[in-house]
This record gives sequence, C-alpha cells and structure tokens, in this order.
Amino acid sequence: MDSIKKWFRECQAKDMVETLNKKGYNAIYAEDAQSARDLVASIIPHGASVGVGGSVTLSQTGILQDLQSGVYQFIDRYNQPSFEAMCEKYKEAYTADFFVTGTNAVTRQGELVNIDATGNRVGPMAFGPDKVIVVAGTNKIVRDINAGIMRTKEIAPINAKRIKHQTPCTSDGQCHDCTCQKRICNITSIIHNCYKFPGRITVIMVAEELGY
Ligand code: SF4
Repeated sequence: MDSIKKWFRECQAKDMVETLNKKGYNAIYAEDAQSARDLVASIIPHGASVGVGGSVTLSQTGILQDLQSGVYQFIDRYNQPSFEAMCEKYKEAYTADFFVTGTNAVTRQGELVNIDATGNRVGPMAFGPDKVIVVAGTNKIVRDINAGIMRTKEIAPINAKRIKHQTPCTSDGQCHDCTCQKRICNITSIIHNCYKFPGRITVIMVAEELGY
C-alpha cells in the first residue's frame, strides 16, 4: 500500500511541476526530502544572503539547518532578544539574495496561498529578494484558491500551537475568529503566477508529505 501511495504522490508532484512551469515558475520535482535538500544546496551559492519564512517543511527536510550552517549569510530571525529585533531581521529578508520558505497551499492551477501573522513571509515571497525558493510536499496541493484558504484556516490552530501563541484555537483546535494581538491569521496572500518575473520563484515539489 505504501508503494501505491508513493506512486500517487509522485504523480501529483510531477503534475504540479508541469502546471507551475507553465505559469512562469521554475518548478522542480524532488523524489524525497533529501533530494529537496540537495536541490536547495545546489541552487544557492555559498556566501549568498538568505532569509527564511517560518516553516516546518524547512526544518523537517534539514534545509533550515543547512542554511544556518555558516556557509551562507543567514538572516537569523530566530535568535533575537525581542519582537522588535526580530522585525528588523524580517525587514532585512526583503533585500536578501534568496528567500526560502514553505507554503500553506498550492492549488492545482498553480497558485500559492498563504496566511501570515506579520507578513514577513508573504511579503518577500511577493517582492524583494531576487530569488525565492518554495519547498512543498504533496499534502499542500489543493483543488483551488478557496480550498487553499480553507486549508490555511484549518491548519492555523496547529501553527498557533507550534509557535506558542496564546490564541483561543490553541485550547481546542478550533478557530474562534479571535481579535487578540496574538492572532496569526492577519494577512492572506495569493500568488497567482510568476509571469512578471519568470523563474523568480522556484517551487520544489516533493513527492512526500511535509510540514502541516
Ligand atoms: S483567527 Fe485566531 S482563533 Fe482563528 S485560527 Fe487564527 S489565531 Fe486561531
């Protein structure tokens, strides 16, 4: 059964690569997490400045650890003494050579759908860094934009729990459309295509389930 699931994920990932390439992205197929990790290492030259979006996929694949290894100018948003200092790093990422991130959803028509708390991820994805690399497992593939937004809302409580935000959804796993400052669902972004800057966004479609 597992080999059948694997085959299905391979079909899904390859199909997405074809769709994304037609929409101006530089889409690449990766058989597994290790292949995705190798691809990212082959794309980013040593010494390049690199910002990242918060992503379980990046840590799960080992990509985040590679970016933090010292061979790149890693813009470290993680080890900051305050929220203000972290925001300064978020701003730096807008002028990085590369921005590497996961995504909340990829639609079958080739749109990237994301919801952010601060906009530090969706902003640089849309404009700023010369190159963006998005790594996505097949669990991120959805039918259309509405399904993408629904997916982002469904996983928001998990993400809120992960980053230890005191939001109502972290008590019961349900969205309460909260109004607190810690709310993580503040900015919805849809990248419809990559026609304006062809190839600016590389999407590595991995034939595995990765992240939330
Ligand atoms: S709107 Fe608030 S309660 Fe709903 S998922 Fe987002 S952070 Fe949680």
